[in-house]
Amino acid sequence: MFLPASRLPLVRWLESFAGALTSVVFPAGCLLCDVLLTHARRIPLCETCLASFQKIAPPICRICGQPLPVPAKPGEGEAVCRDCVEGKFGFQLARSFGVYEGALARAIVLLKYERIEPLGSFFAMRLLELVRSDPRLLPVDVVVPVPLHSQSRKDRGYNQVDLFARTLARRLKVPYRPILLMRSRPRPEKHLLSQEERWEAVRGAFVMRRGGRVDNLRVLLLDDVMTTGATLDACARALREAGARSVLGLTIARAARPAIPVSGA
Ligand SMILES: [Zn+2]
Ligand SMILES: [Zn+2]
Repeated sequence: MFLPASRLPLVRWLESFAGALTSVVFPAGCLLCDVLLTHARRIPLCETCLASFQKIAPPICRICGQPLPVPAKPGEGEAVCRDCVEGKFGFQLARSFGVYEGALARAIVLLKYERIEPLGSFFAMRLLELVRSDPRLLPVDVVVPVPLHSQSRKDRGYNQVDLFARTLARRLKVPYRPILLMRSRPRPEKHLLSQEERWEAVRGAFVMRRGGRVDNLRVLLLDDVMTTGATLDACARALREAGARSVLGLTIARAARPAIPVSGA
């Protein structure tokens, strides 16, 4: 029989063996800046790159979470952006972890083309911290990812949103429903120039699968990047039409957009 103390060397050996295996998988270094990773890491990115992700900081629109150029004036309450004053979005609330630029943008591209599960888990934890810090985002009843078109999914082999949304749902102890929504039209190949074209491209592109039920549920809708909000909007409208009580959008990053005039609300 082993005493705990005598087990220690074996545990240490197993740990270093596991570390060695990890460094076999990622031998070269940080996948973003090439700096040599000095010790084995589950995430193949260095601390400097991870720490450089720029978080979305207030002031933000209290509805869509878009960063605003100036805070609301005292007594005006929380600010709302022009889009939300016009009631543009079909979701009730949207939030993002960081700004889509620099190392964060490149890390998200990595997630899309290389199935790095630990990086997905890293982002799931950042999103978990975010939803726990904002009482308006919890509780939710179900987590739903923005789906890929079936052909893109076949070509790529996985939906990158699954890599963080599934872990987030597990941590929140709510069901994960990756096949509730369906993308009926593929994403257009050509780079879209205007915001209007982006909106046009996704309008009505998402539908509920037959038999999918969201009656009276609060849905947490996950995507990797929010640009104009058109994709989250189109998914939210399909979910609301199917009976969802509310839809809360959550993305890893948000593309910086030109400053939008603010009005207090
Ligand atoms: Zn790095
Ligand atoms: Zn807004």
